Amino acid sequence: METDALLALDARHVWHPYTQHRGAPTPIPVARAEGAYLYTTDGRRILDAISSWWVTLHGHATPEIADAIGQQARTLEQVIFAGCTHEPAVRLCTELARVAPAGLRRVFLSDDGSTAVEVAVKMALQYWENRGEPRRLVAALENAYHGDTFGAMSVSARSVYTASFDPMLFDVARLPDPSEGGAATIDALDALLGTRGRELAAVIVEPLVLGAGGMRMWDEATLRAIAERCRASAIPLIADEVMTGFGRTGPLFACERAGVTPDLMCVSKGITGGFLPLGATLATDALFDTFLSDDRRRTLFHGHSYTANPIACAAALASLALLEAPACTAARARIEAAHRRGLAALAAHPRVSGTRLTGTIAAFEIASPERGYLAGVGRALGAFALADGVLLRPLGDTCYLLPPYCTSDDDLAHAYDVVARFLDQPR
Ligand code: PLP
Repeated sequence: METDALLALDARHVWHPYTQHRGAPTPIPVARAEGAYLYTTDGRRILDAISSWWVTLHGHATPEIADAIGQQARTLEQVIFAGCTHEPAVRLCTELARVAPAGLRRVFLSDDGSTAVEVAVKMALQYWENRGEPRRLVAALENAYHGDTFGAMSVSARSVYTASFDPMLFDVARLPDPSEGGAATIDALDALLGTRGRELAAVIVEPLVLGAGGMRMWDEATLRAIAERCRASAIPLIADEVMTGFGRTGPLFACERAGVTPDLMCVSKGITGGFLPLGATLATDALFDTFLSDDRRRTLFHGHSYTANPIACAAALASLALLEAPACTAARARIEAAHRRGLAALAAHPRVSGTRLTGTIAAFEIASPERGYLAGVGRALGAFALADGVLLRPLGDTCYLLPPYCTSDDDLAHAYDVVARFLDQPR
């Protein structure tokens, strides 16, 4: 299809995510992608410095994953997963249990990050119900983002993302953002355990990086302290590793980096290398065992039509094999080092503050009259970078770079250079 025709039909019929269609820039017409690059229908090459919303892991069109998908599609493309099973799902659940923090041996598959979180929250609530001691209160972090479905929005911070639905969301106990100082988070958790500990069904965190809430990074000691409190009080800890999973923070999982084993862990995004939607919620045997009963009401009544889609499972298996190769570990370390150089150069800029880095995720704030997600400076930087062949999508005045692991040092240096040139522009 010609580019003009494509864009005209898009403008007429398509409703894009997180897009204010009035005044939105023309969407980038992407024809194909390979490695760290997107190629447009009108002949441009664009560096994907944000891994297409944090999903592309090794690079676009990774042949090993594409081949696994093709082969699986010709063998078994889909089958109901209630009452049936198949090798790609069994192998994937076994592999996830092997690579996850020790003790997470049960895997429930779903469709995306939001559903992985929904499932974890439902499991935690029903866990207490099944034990005959119903508890309804969930503790969650200020500035957290856990997805866009109603349960996931409820445990997320109230923000511009949730504002239209706030009255419909369930209340949670809110703990201070640990990126602003872990001591206050721990004190608040201690106080909550003291006053409402017997109501508390779960604590949910984005380990080490609060993503869509502003790429706010926090420390391993605080994560360990939260985990210790949960363990001591026998309250399930839910780690939402939807963004941080599969090497983004260096090790396979942020919990691993902190030496923490949660009771429930949510993964998605990079799980298939960025090829297909898939979510997974990992649970301990102890939690799973409370669902075993002759009373059929203790069943987890949750499932999706495409649960454990064999093609998505095959993609995930191929991606995991690549992820565990020493070359991928080295690539992640290389990206971290390249970020460190890029951030060091930017840190001196008068318009930059709060440079930070966790593994392959780098972020900083840009001085601007408006603050937060709606700050126009992010959109201006996105447009400037695009004109120079780099895809960035700042969260308002927070800019981050989260590239696929195949991104070369030169390409990442170019992305930092584009940001620096934007900042040097006269305002
Ligand atoms: N949890 C975290 C930590 C996320 O970053 C996201 C998405 O950005 C989600 C959950 C929701 O994932 P999805 O967009 O796949 O529903």
